[in-house]
Amino acid sequence: MSKIKILAENIINKIAAGEVVQRPESVVKELMENSIDAGSSSIDVIIKDAGKSLIQVADDGSGMSEEDALLAFQRHATSKISRFEDLSELQSYGFRGEALSSISGVSLFEIKTEKQDEEIGTHIRVENGTYSVEKGSFSKGTSITVKNLFFNVPARRNFLKTNATEMKHITETFRKIALSHPEMAFRMFNDDELIYDYKKCEVEKRVAEVFGEEVSGSVIPAKENTDLINVTGFLAKPAYLRKNKGDQYLYINRRFVSSRIINHAVFSAYENLIEKGDYPFFILFLELNPAKVDVNVHPSKLEVKFDDEKSIYSLVHAIVRKSLGSYDLTPVARFTGSEGDPLSRMRIGNDSETIKRPIPSDYHTPSFKPPKRPITTISDDELDLLFSGINDEIKKTAPEHEVPHPFQNQPQKDETEILVDASEELILNTPFIVSLHNKYILTPIKSGVMIIDQHIAHERILYERALKFLYSDSPISQQLLFPETINLDPGDMAVCKELLPQLRKLGFDLRIFTGNSIVIDGVPPEIKVGQEKTILLDILEEYKKNQIEKSLEIRDNLAKSYSCKTAIKAGDRLEKEELVSLVEQLFATSMPYVCPHGRPVMIKLPLTELDRRFGRTS
Ligand code: ADP
Ligand code: MG
Repeated sequence: MSKIKILAENIINKIAAGEVVQRPESVVKELMENSIDAGSSSIDVIIKDAGKSLIQVADDGSGMSEEDALLAFQRHATSKISRFEDLSELQSYGFRGEALSSISGVSLFEIKTEKQDEEIGTHIRVENGTYSVEKGSFSKGTSITVKNLFFNVPARRNFLKTNATEMKHITETFRKIALSHPEMAFRMFNDDELIYDYKKCEVEKRVAEVFGEEVSGSVIPAKENTDLINVTGFLAKPAYLRKNKGDQYLYINRRFVSSRIINHAVFSAYENLIEKGDYPFFILFLELNPAKVDVNVHPSKLEVKFDDEKSIYSLVHAIVRKSLGSYDLTPVARFTGSEGDPLSRMRIGNDSETIKRPIPSDYHTPSFKPPKRPITTISDDELDLLFSGINDEIKKTAPEHEVPHPFQNQPQKDETEILVDASEELILNTPFIVSLHNKYILTPIKSGVMIIDQHIAHERILYERALKFLYSDSPISQQLLFPETINLDPGDMAVCKELLPQLRKLGFDLRIFTGNSIVIDGVPPEIKVGQEKTILLDILEEYKKNQIEKSLEIRDNLAKSYSCKTAIKAGDRLEKEELVSLVEQLFATSMPYVCPHGRPVMIKLPLTELDRRFGRTS
């Protein structure tokens, strides 16, 4: 007797189902995607017992003829591609023609469908490989019912998690799909209760519905159309990061996918706004020619591959950078608690409304120079910095991809230029500026008072300056009258030797003397006389710490260590001219709102808030 047998169709389906249908959530996903592919404008999802007893998806799409409906649950039956070449131009979610056959193989399966232009519809029941057909009058579109999922695959059925867990997966998928189709209405019923009711709307509204008003108020919108891709997105404001660590919503041609390359492009655009290791929440919709992206990497169709990763990387990076740079990220101080309660505390949070900074008004002031100046959102230096070290990181995780250097092919478009002007609000012809406890700088702005942390502000200034010097070859050094000799322990000596070229670029004129001693002949001009030794030692200390805790790239680490240790401290007394100059320099930096570690540099105290506190209701 021969041992090899052709498997019966229903067994094949059961096996194949393992790949397509892992849990109730997969059924919901496949059915919803079919409904979208069918051109529906509204979809109802009905769930009972977390999908274990019932999943029903009803749409108002094209519907199917009897003939098509009978084919639909056959293996490899699809209306979406017919030639191999079609695959590369795929616009639809489905293409394998596997979902319905797999699902119908492991459930009690029913299709009720009626085409838009027909009066009579088809009702098919499929059970254990046999089916029956009835004709009848149904609503236009298609309704698919999946009962007792995995009833004939006990191993799978037992493998399902608690209802709460399965339901969580289902709602996540439902919301992900709804998010990318705001032009459609979606409802979900769970055990007869209507739990989601999304009406057709704009994408902003859908974001608010899916994530809540709080999140939608904490994001910065991004929108950009280029020849290669169109991008619409919502990016977390830096202050919002921690709450939503790990949530990234990336869609390519409306398909939820994951891409390390894109994540990296976004995360690195946040650099210097967030701590390393923080992952900003974002929603990004990328539209690009389907022929240039491959989603057919795995049946779950999640990880994508781009033809032109390099350009996509730099475009996404530039767009995110630009959006982050064009919003005022100054936190606003607000009083919370009951009205007039003197004990109510002040709460610091990012302004919940995202207000686009207006084009700067004119300045005429002797003390502050107009800080408006165009910056390109991706400077070569910046990108170099981001990419060195990161290159390896991506290579490690995605070895098959040749990781692009983002400078090459960098789009040199005017669009990537923005005006950075945080100080447009400063009232400059009354240059009233005071120091508070030698720690904070107070200055009036049109909408109230601006409070700046002098140490953090200086840190931001020095950080950018340090980076500039680290990438150029013209160090500025102040020669010491009496060269200083320091003895280092062997560990510090090793770090010092390693950093010698970079330290020299920063302006440290150093000579390695005998054994473990070095001689300081000159230092950067910011370093006060008498502090040369301590500051150099502090920098080495901070550098080592950063290296261990955060594994920062060398130059970034050095710039951070340098700025942190060299900046004026809380408690340092500053003359008025120094205060003015500090504010002026701060607003000339590319990102005046946050320090290199992500802390806010300044806070706004709005007049409206003061008025409210003084009972000056208008
Ligand atoms: P695929 O989506 O990969 O084509 P499926 O097994 O999910 O494979 O569906 C098979 C076919 O059934 C589809 O190609 C489509 O023609 C038809 N179909 C499935 N669901 C619907 C629906 N809700 N409305 C109209 N046609 C549908
Ligand atoms: Mg499908």
